[in-house]
Amino acid sequence: MAKLNVQEREQLREEIRKLCADYPNEYWRQLDIEREYPYEFVDALTKSGYLSALIPEEYGGKGYGMTEATIILEEINRSGGHAAGCHAQMYTMGALLKHGSEEQKRKYLPEIASGSLRFQAFSVTEESAGSNTTAIETFAEKTEEGYIVNGHKNWTSRVLQSDLLMLLARTTPADQVGAKKTEGLSLFLVDLREIREKQPETFVVEPVRTMFNYATNQVFYKNMKIPSECLIGEKGKGFRYVLDGMNAERTLLAAEAIGDGYFFIDKATSYANEREVFDRKIGTNQGIQFPIARAYAAIKAADLMRYEAARKYDEGEKYGEQANLAKYLSSEASWQAANVCLDTHGGYGFVDQYDVERKFRETRMYQVAPVSNNMILAFLGQNVLGMPRSY
Ligand SMILES: Cc1cc2nc3c(=O)[nH]c(=O)nc-3n(C[C@H](O)[C@H](O)[C@H](O)COP(=O)(O)OP(=O)(O)OC[C@H]3O[C@@H](n4cnc5c(N)ncnc54)[C@H](O)[C@@H]3O)c2cc1C
Repeated sequence: MAKLNVQEREQLREEIRKLCADYPNEYWRQLDIEREYPYEFVDALTKSGYLSALIPEEYGGKGYGMTEATIILEEINRSGGHAAGCHAQMYTMGALLKHGSEEQKRKYLPEIASGSLRFQAFSVTEESAGSNTTAIETFAEKTEEGYIVNGHKNWTSRVLQSDLLMLLARTTPADQVGAKKTEGLSLFLVDLREIREKQPETFVVEPVRTMFNYATNQVFYKNMKIPSECLIGEKGKGFRYVLDGMNAERTLLAAEAIGDGYFFIDKATSYANEREVFDRKIGTNQGIQFPIARAYAAIKAADLMRYEAARKYDEGEKYGEQANLAKYLSSEASWQAANVCLDTHGGYGFVDQYDVERKFRETRMYQVAPVSNNMILAFLGQNVLGMPRSY
């Protein structure tokens, strides 16, 4: 792994800042109004090589560690951008690298790294299962040639912008897995180009409009045929592979929330230093200054936990507790900073030209998805603190 030293990490940060400067708030604001995907930005990030941060060098990627990957996503959000358009390629990488076959890696990773293949979609959540992933019903039935998939996912983001899809589906009926509810689910890497070309009627996508600019969708799988080579790792072990990836996802998204937090602190501080009411800067008032300082303290503390989670990942240590803590603390801290920033701006906080209301809507998601903070607290209560399970 090409781990960077402290100076090199700062240089990486500077390079991402420079790249993001070409995509200022006006760019993201317009996309938000139109609910459009940031194609130009994602292309630029891909061409720079930074989107392939977690792809090993032997497959054409940067071969960085988790710490570097989190710096990239943090800086995108800190600049006023929204890393949601491209983060999935980073967090799906763990399952593919750890559990994918050498053939799958050789076939896909170099093309993902070069940008000729886009890999941004992860299809897990279902309406009837919700947070209880082990209750999903989408079924992949084994046939001689491969699998036939049927089911409905109520959330699958960026699937219209992706060539590859990571799909979690049941391969053993729920009533046959017995007490081990985590068994019987399998993970597939589906080449959507073939599906779109040869059997488009089996893969129906319905965009879902949300309160912020997020390219998310419902997906209906209707007798979609996929070859056996799509299976990642062992049949029936998919839930475990997804769990592996979830801690990476939590750490990466924690860094995005931290980026948002710094965006709000930067924005609130400069407005507090500039806006004058009652013949003084509003930042002179402790009613304005202290909430900003308090939100800054919360962001800094969450940031330390994010680095701790990333460090443990990079050193191959168990990091479930730290990944969950980082996700929880950073999402709460970014929301605190968002509210403080909005209060600091008074009425202008609601005006789109100031970008506070846009980022306010964006950062609210981190408390709910990819996993709700209640589930994080349940993990900490049960798995770390040893209290009884509630479900
Ligand atoms: C913008 C967006 C994009 C998304 N993109 C994707 C995607 O690309 N792929 C994908 O697979 N999913 C995606 N999701 C889905 C996301 O992962 C889920 O929304 C999230 O996991 C929560 O599940 P749910 O919405 O079904 O909530 P539910 O499970 O219905 O929960 C609702 C509320 O009840 C609480 N709750 C439920 N059970 C318990 C309990 N036992 N104890 C305490 N509280 C409980 C939850 O914490 C939550 O607050 C996306 C979601 C959003 C909002």
